[in-house]
Amino acid sequence: MSISNDAAVVSFYGGLGEIGANMCAIEVDGKAVLVDVGLTFPDAEHHGIDLILPDWKDLIERGPEIVGVVITHGHEDHMGALPFFLRDFPGIKVYSAKLTLGLLEAKLVEHPDARVELIEVEPGEKVAIDDFELEFIQVTHSIPDGMAVAVHTPHGTILHTGDFRLDQTPIDGRVTDLPHLAQLGDQGISLLLCDSTNADVPGHVPSERTVGNTLRTVFESARGRVVMTTFASHVHRVQQAIDAATAMGRKVCFVGRSMVRNMPIARELGYLRYDDADIIDIADCDRYSPARILIICTGSQGEPYAALSLMAAGQHKHVKLTEGDTVVMASSQIPGNEAAISRALNGLMRQGAEVVHRREHGVHVSGHAAAEELKFFHNIVRPAAVVPVHGEFRHLIAHAQLAVATGTPADQVFVCTDGDRVVLRDGRVERGDGFNSGRVFVDGLGVGDVGNAVLRDRERLSSEGVCVAVLRLDSRFRLDGEPEIMQQGLIYEAENAHLLDQAAKVLGDDVRSLGSSNEDVVRRKVYESLSRFWREQLGRKPVVVPVLMEV
Ligand SMILES: [Zn+2]
Ligand SMILES: [Zn+2]
Repeated sequence: MSISNDAAVVSFYGGLGEIGANMCAIEVDGKAVLVDVGLTFPDAEHHGIDLILPDWKDLIERGPEIVGVVITHGHEDHMGALPFFLRDFPGIKVYSAKLTLGLLEAKLVEHPDARVELIEVEPGEKVAIDDFELEFIQVTHSIPDGMAVAVHTPHGTILHTGDFRLDQTPIDGRVTDLPHLAQLGDQGISLLLCDSTNADVPGHVPSERTVGNTLRTVFESARGRVVMTTFASHVHRVQQAIDAATAMGRKVCFVGRSMVRNMPIARELGYLRYDDADIIDIADCDRYSPARILIICTGSQGEPYAALSLMAAGQHKHVKLTEGDTVVMASSQIPGNEAAISRALNGLMRQGAEVVHRREHGVHVSGHAAAEELKFFHNIVRPAAVVPVHGEFRHLIAHAQLAVATGTPADQVFVCTDGDRVVLRDGRVERGDGFNSGRVFVDGLGVGDVGNAVLRDRERLSSEGVCVAVLRLDSRFRLDGEPEIMQQGLIYEAENAHLLDQAAKVLGDDVRSLGSSNEDVVRRKVYESLSRFWREQLGRKPVVVPVLMEV
């Protein structure tokens, strides 16, 4: 049964109550347009997980026809899950801007089975699909080619901002198109879904241009090599670094897989300008004096095997940092990465490098609108109803308050989280029935097979270790010989092997005391006996694995 008769229904699959994995669906009469299909990256608690996807089981089970997917911009939290989505929904149409599609195509190379129809659209363009009309609006963000999308439905217009800010002097001159937004506001926005990332940051975010000025100053005063790290999608930051460096005679070198992959794509598509003569290979760096080198690398979040972390550990194949070198962290700290970044900073300083990393140094500005920009935006769009999106819960709450402060009636401002729906009917929005949402883990080749139960096991294995007991039993489950005890991650065997002998003896006595029994009883005895042994000996709780063999 369709949930969307006589109404437009918006379902939130990811990105509300968290930063990352953005995805929502707008449905009318059993047909759906999706906005973004993003992923998020695992924390330390996600032992061994590679990627985290939104759970779109609801779409599979209900089966609305997906008539189009809009990708607002090329960040992973907006398009990263698409290759996996295509496995469940092959052949769908994906609408986006040129650079976003270029980055998406480069990503799809790693998923050769993916079937998709990529359709390039430009800001200002309108596309009619069934009962929907999509209208694309230019916005400024920390990657070029960001777009908001107005989804016109028979029940009203829903405006999704994507990620945006109101930089009045962006590097490419592509300002957020306020006249276009004002015009949409005049026509009437029934529901606004709006970026909340910086809703609790007062004031305005300074222009990206201010970073360029700072980079020039830092580069000028640097005596040796300059290493700058930023996101491999931040084309304008990279452009400003290249411009500053080449103006003072430094050669530029890209280091790190995604940096080396993305920058030529951005240049090829016309978003990045540089002279081939100014770019050198990392292997040739040593042929230039240190004062003539700028290295632009990945690893701004302290990712363990990224270029910056290897340099910090003194393990990078080509770059050995030394006194006189300057490292510029031209990026934000994504929440959850603080410890890894801190480790990298310590390592870099230990190598003797001077590190410029703090916000007050002005080497980074955010790509998301702060509170005053959001108020300004709300006043231009004048939405009838608002759902704050793209934020942790505290950001959504702060944004809801801004929406009310700028005149949206409080009963038409909805703080939603993943798994919520809102229904737009006759010009009013109300909450719909929720659905089961969640996270799907990608681990190696498996998608969704590792869930919370497996993660709990991994957590325990990693924190307590494992103790395996091999018991030979006769046909009446009586012990034959002594048990054999093995362990991993529990004790340092070279010094404490005697504990394994003791454990074997205690376990042997306990099992022998059972006499004739059955498999379940023996297993329970092994758990009980070994758990008690390790608790009493060491205060530890290893995962106990009994292996019973009939002889
Ligand atoms: Zn985002
Ligand atoms: Zn973004």
